[in-house]
Amino acid sequence: MTTRDGDPGADAERKMQFLFALRSHGVTDPRVLSAMEEVDRAPFIRGLFAERAYEDMPLPIACGQTISQPSVVGIMTQALKIQPRDKVLEVGTGSGYQAAILAKLARRVYTVDRHRRLVHEAREHFEALDLHNITAMTSDGTRGLPEQAPFDKIMVTAAAEDPPGPLLAQLAIGGIMVVPVGQSDAVQSLIKVTRRDTGYDYEELLPVRFVPLLEGLGQE
Ligand code: SAH
Repeated sequence: MTTRDGDPGADAERKMQFLFALRSHGVTDPRVLSAMEEVDRAPFIRGLFAERAYEDMPLPIACGQTISQPSVVGIMTQALKIQPRDKVLEVGTGSGYQAAILAKLARRVYTVDRHRRLVHEAREHFEALDLHNITAMTSDGTRGLPEQAPFDKIMVTAAAEDPPGPLLAQLAIGGIMVVPVGQSDAVQSLIKVTRRDTGYDYEELLPVRFVPLLEGLGQE
């Protein structure tokens, strides 16, 4: 983790505060914490806001979208209980930050976004970080990715009115999906869905605020 001023003391202090914010929001899984320590958030945020990369807040990225708050990234990642052999689908690549963290923990990550430009920029970050187990694609994630299903874990990083049916169907038995669900911008809950032999279990984790999951592809 390095900052523009390159002051090692200030960098260490920011990193400590970043990890402290994660822990104080309940991110305690050591594997998740070390993945988040390894992946520097700053390069995923272009422009002026990069200076605020280590603060626990969502920030604007291209195409009118946002990079999620680090503590929410941590809680969502932790809820998936990722195993080293897992195949994971992320819907909503955005900056690529969340996918990079998933790629540190899982065998293979597929990430899709409806904005081509975001997918291209995210691919550049994955290359720069030598992350070769991520496949990023422009596609409408409400349909999932049937050709690669089933997935051990699915993470949706945009808010749906209900967990999309194709995603439920593409979850492996024993698999876990996390998805923000809500009818409006203001009231959304992060839902954890576990697929059992006999059906699906739903658990409400915490209130969240995400951009909406929209059908079809974006303009750019
Ligand atoms: N996980 C991202 C943040 C995602 S913001 C990160 O780490 O930076 C939500 C993203 O979901 C946006 O980029 C938006 O374009 C995307 N999105 C919304 N609806 C979608 C859909 N149907 N399919 C794929 N991506 C979608």
